[in-house]
Amino acid sequence: MNGFNPNFSPFECLTCGKELHGRRDKKYCNDTCRNAGNRKRKGIDSWYEPLFIAQINAILKRNYKILKTEVTKHNGPTSVGRFHLVDKEFNFKYYTSILTNHAGTYHFIYDHGWRELEDGRIMIVMNPKQAEL
Ligand SMILES: [Zn+2]
Repeated sequence: MNGFNPNFSPFECLTCGKELHGRRDKKYCNDTCRNAGNRKRKGIDSWYEPLFIAQINAILKRNYKILKTEVTKHNGPTSVGRFHLVDKEFNFKYYTSILTNHAGTYHFIYDHGWRELEDGRIMIVMNPKQAEL
């Protein structure tokens, strides 16, 4: 007996740093910290991407494809009926940037954008600057 009691020397949770007591081989204070520690050890990111991130990314991609297809088809800026876009499941809620100029406000998805005209039609344009970081 060497008089050393390992249970008396404070040690810390490897995840949150909280002081641990008890068995010396204990590494974490609770299951949450143990799981986080295991994920970190395995190189898995410690937070989970909410599902809506992937869903919104998919919407942005679809929106982009729709705008790009129209511009390509007409070989430049064009205007289409709103329902034409709705038919293709264009989602007006999501975009990546806004540009306001003398003509009005454009909503861009990367380098392709749209603006609502006074008659309700949708003007579609391309502007590479909107995709510059
Ligand atoms: Zn902990």
